[in-house]
Amino acid sequence: MRQILYHVPEYDETLIYQAVEKAFTQLDILSDLTPDMKVLLKPNLVMAKKPDVPVTTHPLIVKSVARWLQEHGITNIVIGESSGGPFTAEHMKTVYHTCGMYEAEPYARLNMDFGFQSVNAPDGFVNHSFNIINAIAEADYIINLPKLKTHAMTGYSGGIKNLFGSVPGLQKPQLHYRFPDIEDFSNMLLELSLVVKPQITLIDAIDAMEGNGPTGGTSHPLHMILASQDMYTQDYFAATLMGLEPEEIVMLRQAKERNLIHMESMELIGDTIPDNLTAFQKPDTKNLDFSSKVPKFLQKPFAAVLSRVLKSYPKLEPEKCVGCGKCAESCPVQIITIKNRKANFKRKGCISCFCCQEMCPMKAISVKKAI
Ligand code: SF4
Ligand code: SF4
Repeated sequence: MRQILYHVPEYDETLIYQAVEKAFTQLDILSDLTPDMKVLLKPNLVMAKKPDVPVTTHPLIVKSVARWLQEHGITNIVIGESSGGPFTAEHMKTVYHTCGMYEAEPYARLNMDFGFQSVNAPDGFVNHSFNIINAIAEADYIINLPKLKTHAMTGYSGGIKNLFGSVPGLQKPQLHYRFPDIEDFSNMLLELSLVVKPQITLIDAIDAMEGNGPTGGTSHPLHMILASQDMYTQDYFAATLMGLEPEEIVMLRQAKERNLIHMESMELIGDTIPDNLTAFQKPDTKNLDFSSKVPKFLQKPFAAVLSRVLKSYPKLEPEKCVGCGKCAESCPVQIITIKNRKANFKRKGCISCFCCQEMCPMKAISVKKAI
């Protein structure tokens, strides 16, 4: 399957549009589209952050994709996503505004339907159904537009992980609660991706994030966009470009085990891979968490001890905390309270999901080893 890579040195509208045009032509996406289709663009809008930091998909990517579709006869285009926090008009308007999504409005509508529906998963899946926001569940054609990042819990965030934003608002922490183990959570992500099934994924890797992603890391530009109809191989390929070991990323190893990754038949189209790429810094959680080094057969019997000794946990940097409560709102096990305008964390019950760190707008949560 084709993997497209084009160099785009900066967020310049003309350069991005040209790269999108070349990518979509190479992938011949018009052969799958008809003018009556409802096309959904799924950016990463994890939190309300300005486009000059590499947290969310850049608005010029979303705008260029929407414009290209309009210019090729597709008019029913919706930008839809459920960011962290509540899936409400008030919250999403702030996210759209801060993330610059109104730039794309001449070509696409911003989703204002805050309903969701249960969508059945195929037989044999652990998850029999998923609650998915209407805009995604009702789309005829989905263009997945992730931002490339490292991620505190999953290690890597690209096409597969971006689809977690199909689940409405605060139902996402509930899934963390149901699947505290990284193996189970990654399997859930894979099954969700197989239900949502985007037709194409175009990754914003012009500026990417390293370190404590998906929101607290720092810039690591790759100056490229990646596009493909094979999101699984694309994620594996993108992880190698970041200098990560893809099979240490549980969701990518599982995707390979499900025969979803086909590096052997990958055809790279477009520009060459630069020879000066440098490895991405891993999140602190991955640098400090040694539980994956313990043989699997020992993990179950000693789970309680291992989780106390080897896991990493969130640690508040009180001087940065403003007491906004976003960490408490997103904690699946409700062990964070706000007292005297500061967050308080209980260790007992923490599942080390790092949703709190992900949603903290002040980067006030770091990572510490259990002992
Ligand atoms: S830790 Fe972050 S998210 Fe939590 S209350 Fe403090 S500033 Fe807000
Ligand atoms: S305190 Fe943070 S890491 Fe622990 S369970 Fe709550 S959200 Fe997850």
